[in-house]
Amino acid sequence: MSVKTRFAPSPTGYLHVGGARTALYSWLYAKKTNGRFVLRIEDTDRERSTQESIDVIMQGMSWLGLDFDEGPFYQTQRFERYGELIQSLLDQDKAYYCYCSRDELDALRKQQMEQKIKPRYDGRCRHRQQPREGIDPVVRFRNPEHGEVVFEDLIRGTIAVSNQELDDLIIARSDGTPTYNFTVVVDDMDMNITHVIRGDDHINNTPRQINILRALGAELPNYAHVPMILGSDGARLSKRHGAVSVLQYREQGYLPKALLNYLVRLGWSHGDQEVFSIEEMTELFELSNVNRAASTFNSEKLLWLNHHYIKHDDPEQLANQLFWHFQKNEVDIESGPPLVDVVKVLRERSKTLVEMMEMSLFFYADFESYDEKAVKKQFKPEALEVLQALLEQFSAVEAWEGESLHHVVTGLAESMQKKMGEIAQPLRVAIAGRAVSPPIDATLELLGRQKTLQRLERAIKFIEQKNL
Ligand code: GLU
Repeated sequence: MSVKTRFAPSPTGYLHVGGARTALYSWLYAKKTNGRFVLRIEDTDRERSTQESIDVIMQGMSWLGLDFDEGPFYQTQRFERYGELIQSLLDQDKAYYCYCSRDELDALRKQQMEQKIKPRYDGRCRHRQQPREGIDPVVRFRNPEHGEVVFEDLIRGTIAVSNQELDDLIIARSDGTPTYNFTVVVDDMDMNITHVIRGDDHINNTPRQINILRALGAELPNYAHVPMILGSDGARLSKRHGAVSVLQYREQGYLPKALLNYLVRLGWSHGDQEVFSIEEMTELFELSNVNRAASTFNSEKLLWLNHHYIKHDDPEQLANQLFWHFQKNEVDIESGPPLVDVVKVLRERSKTLVEMMEMSLFFYADFESYDEKAVKKQFKPEALEVLQALLEQFSAVEAWEGESLHHVVTGLAESMQKKMGEIAQPLRVAIAGRAVSPPIDATLELLGRQKTLQRLERAIKFIEQKNL
C-alpha cells in the first residue's frame, strides 16, 4: 500500500513551529516515498476552534510550501460518519452508555486518590441494562480488560501498555458529539493513513486509539512520535521564549527555506550536514534518524541559516519575498531601483529581509531625519565643502554609473587631500540618512542622479542651518 501521511492541527491558535516541524516530517516522508500528504483540520472543539486560526494555519503551510495532496478535510463536516460508527460500536456492544453523573465520578476519583490508586473510570455502567431517568448519557468505548497493547513506534521503538492502565474512554459526549480520540481514529481509518507522524504529547493516546481501531476492524497505521521542542531554559517552547508562530517568522524577515532547513535539523540529522535544500532533505530524510530526545530551539542558528540563504539564494526569488515586506509597510517601490538590484548589493550584510528592507528604504522614500550619531560625527562644518564639491561634480557626471561615480569620490579625496572616509562618510549620511549603506558607488548608482542631488542639497542646507 502506498504511503499516506497527514497533518492534523486543531485550529485553536497560530501555527506553532513545533506543529510546522511535525507537518514537515509528514510531508517529507510522503514526498520521499511518492506517497500522499493529507491536511485535516481537527475543529471539533467548537468553542476553541476559530476561522482565524484555520486561516493562519493555511497561510503558514502555504508560505512554507508544504502543499497537500488531499484536503483540507474538516472534522466538523464529518459528524454524520462519526455518529454512524458510534452507533455501530453500540450495536456490537463494543461501546456502552454511561449514566454516571459528575458528582459520582468526582466521588470515585476522590476515593481512588485516597486509596492511592490511579484515578480511572471503574466501568460501573458496563453492564447496566436500564437507562437512568433524566440523564443524557455519554458513550464509552469498552476497552479490553486484559492483555496489552504493543506497537512499534518508528522513532521510539517498541511501546507496550497494559490494558489495565486504560479505562473506558468517552467517545461521545452527552450531547452526542464525538470526542477527540474517536474522530482521529475514524479519520485515520477512513483516509487510509499509513503513517501517523505526530508530537509525542499524543503518545498516551495511541494505545487507546489502537484499541478503537481494532474494534472498528481497521488496519493499524504505523506510528512515529516526534519529541518536543524546548526553549533555551529547558521548558517546552512557548511564546515566552520569543517567536513561536510560523507567520511571525515571515514577518521578522525569515525565508521559508531557512525555517524548513532549521526545523528539519531540529530533531533529525544526516551526519554533520547543516544545510539542506528541499530536494536533499526529501531524499535523505528517514524517520529512524529522528532523535528520541527533545531538542532545544536555537534562534542564533536559525538566523545563521537565514543569512546563508539570503546570501546564496536566487536574487529574483529573494526580490519577490522582499517585495512582500515593502508591500506590508506600504512602501511604493516604483520610484526606486529594481528590488533584485537591492538584493544583490545588500545580501552580504542583511541577516533578515526586514533588515534588508530597512537598509534599502532610503532608495524609495525620503528618510525623515538623519541618524543623530552620524550627524555628530559626519556633519561637521568641514563636511560642508565636501558635500558642495560633490554636488557640483555629480551634477556634471555624464554617465550615472558606479565606476564614474566612484572616480568622483576618489578624485575629490585626492584634490582635497582627504581620506576616502572623509568624503564617503558625509556623503553616505547625506544620501542614506545614516553612516551605513552598501558600497558607495553601488548606492549612488541605484539611488539615481536626481535623488542624489536633491539629498546633497538637503544635507548642505541642514549643515548650514546647524552652524548658524
Ligand atoms: N489535533 C491534534 C493536535 O493538534 C493532533 C492529532 C494527531 O496528530 O493525531 O494536537
